[in-house]
Amino acid sequence: MISLVDIKNILHDPNPEATEQLAQDAGRLTRQYFGRTITLYAPLYLSNFCSSYCTYCGFHSHNRIKRFKLTAEQMRQEMSFLAKQGIENILLLTGESYQATPLDYLKEVATIAKTYFSNISMEVHPMEEAEYRELFAHGVDGITVYQETYNRKRYKEVHISGKKADYDYRLAAPERAAKGGIRHIALGILLGLADTAEDLHALYQHLRWMERHHPGVEYSVSFPRLRAIKGTDFAYCDVDDITLVKVICLTRIQFPRMGINLSTREDAGLRDHALELGITRISAGSNTSVGGYTVTAAEKQDPQFDIKDHRGVKDIIAILKEHNFDPVLTDWRRIDN
Ligand code: SF4
Repeated sequence: MISLVDIKNILHDPNPEATEQLAQDAGRLTRQYFGRTITLYAPLYLSNFCSSYCTYCGFHSHNRIKRFKLTAEQMRQEMSFLAKQGIENILLLTGESYQATPLDYLKEVATIAKTYFSNISMEVHPMEEAEYRELFAHGVDGITVYQETYNRKRYKEVHISGKKADYDYRLAAPERAAKGGIRHIALGILLGLADTAEDLHALYQHLRWMERHHPGVEYSVSFPRLRAIKGTDFAYCDVDDITLVKVICLTRIQFPRMGINLSTREDAGLRDHALELGITRISAGSNTSVGGYTVTAAEKQDPQFDIKDHRGVKDIIAILKEHNFDPVLTDWRRIDN
C-alpha cells in the first residue's frame, strides 16, 4: 500500500517528465485490463428534497430552492427518454431525505427502472443492511456513496446538520451495502474539500479494506471536483487539472482492475484526455436537475452542480469511436428466476 508521504511527493512533484511517466504507466495498465472499452451511463435526478445541510451543495436543506420529486408517471417519461438514447446503465439520484424519498419510494423507482434499463445504480441516502437487501431484491445492482472527505474535522465543518453529519454511519454504508448483496459499489472523495493527498490515502485504505472483507463486490471510484455554487466559495483548495490527472493515474496504478468514473462536471477536453489514462466509465448527455430531461425541462431550476460537458449520448458515442474506443452501453443482464 502506497504511503501518504509517497502520495504527497507524487502530487506535489512539479517535474513534467515524472507526470508523463505516471500517465504512460496508467494508460498501459488501463489498456491491459480494460482494452479500449468505455462504459456509458446517465444520471437521472428523482428528487431534490434534502434534510441535510452540506455547505458545498445547492440542494441543502437551508437553501430556498423549488423542490421537486418525480411521480411514477414522470419517472417513466424520463426513463423512456434516456432509454431511447440508448442508455442501459442508469444512476438514479435523490437528495438525502428519509421522509420525501423513503425506501418504499426507492423500491417503486427500481421496479419501474427495471423495465427500461439493464443496470440500475442509486446514489441516495445511506441505509441499513436489510434495506439494501430489499433494494437489491427490487433490481438495484449498484450503490454510490462517497465519503466526500475522510478528514473528520473537515467533515464536521462542512456537514452541518442532518443524517449526513454522521461520519461513522456514512463510512460504514459501503459495507452494509455489500452485506445486503449489492453487486457494484462506488466510493469517492470530493476533491477540493480537504487535503487531496490525505483523502486519497484514506480512500485507498477504505478500498483495500472493502476488497479484503467483501471480495465478491465490484468496486469503482470517482473524483468529482468542487464547483462553486451561486455566490459562495466553500472550496478548501483549488484542485487543478494536473492534480486531477495525477489522482486518476495514481489510482489506476494502485488498483489496475478498478473502474474509474468521470462525470460531466469536467469539461469535454479534460474528459477526452482522461480516457487515455485511466477512466473506464463516463456519464453522457447528463442533466443534473430533477426531471430535467423532459418533465421540468422548461422550468428554471437550480441543478445540484453545473455540468461542463454538454454533449449528448450520440455525440459521445461518435467521439469515442473516432478515438478508437469501444463504447459499452451494457455488459450486464439480470436474470430473474
Ligand atoms: S450533498 Fe447530498 S446530503 Fe448534502 S445537501 Fe447535497 S443532496 Fe443533501
